Amino acid sequence: MSTGTVFSAETVWTAYRLFALALFGATIGSFLNVCAYRIPLGRSIVRPGSACTACGTLIRWQHNIPVFSWLYLRGRCASCRTRISARYPLVEAGNALLWVLVGWRFGPTIGALVLLPFVSAMIVLFLTDLDHQLLPDRITLPLAVAGLVVAPWNARLDLGPWLFGSGTPLGRLVAALVGAVIGYGVFFTLALAWRVLFDREALGGGDLKMMLGVGAFLGAHGVLLTIFLASLIGTLLSLPALLSGRWRMTHVLPFGCFLAPAAVVAMFYAPEIIRWYLGLLVWPV
Ligand SMILES: [Zn+2]
Repeated sequence: MSTGTVFSAETVWTAYRLFALALFGATIGSFLNVCAYRIPLGRSIVRPGSACTACGTLIRWQHNIPVFSWLYLRGRCASCRTRISARYPLVEAGNALLWVLVGWRFGPTIGALVLLPFVSAMIVLFLTDLDHQLLPDRITLPLAVAGLVVAPWNARLDLGPWLFGSGTPLGRLVAALVGAVIGYGVFFTLALAWRVLFDREALGGGDLKMMLGVGAFLGAHGVLLTIFLASLIGTLLSLPALLSGRWRMTHVLPFGCFLAPAAVVAMFYAPEIIRWYLGLLVWPV
């Protein structure tokens, strides 16, 4: 029996592509940390370069290599030895992982490329909402514009052959516009209903603007699934507090922290989840 090559040229090429995506994703992940820290403070994300948040020393390039530098310096600043949160390498690794998953699932296509900024934006919005209960306009509004600009290449906006124009550049642009309007509209209605019913602000303006971008990237079906999944995660997580009676109406969780991961799940699996769910409705067992 001859021992042929174990890996085909195609496999090697795919592995190389995903590896490059991981490296680039980790580097951008490092930039996402800077964005999440500075944007809510209204500071420039370009200047000055990365600096220690404790002593302000600019971080040298050899100490700014994603993930590895944090491990090498054992999670401390090189000059003042202050602890650096494990969150920094985790965000870098997380962005690298999501980028690899996008490249792996959607292949070497422009359709995959346009989704990379989307998942990265979800990471930053998750972090700013977690830290400051803030979804900054500087992220949500450019995201909405970007969603519309890349729409003609975004295959996640396709609904299938049953809808006229689906899959064409113009059809995708229309789907992005409809998605943005539906996302904003549904949230606007929810916010209004909540205010009328409970006389309380439940959803901030940031959530509304975030849904513009999610709708523009994922279409109406994707943004509706995002809202549904986020509500589901939010309800499940607040269930223990609810049952123990410690829950108050004032406990308003930063909803963006649920919306961001829900949007990423919807981006990957919206058609599968919706088909499965409709299957349950059409063919009850
Ligand atoms: Zn320092």
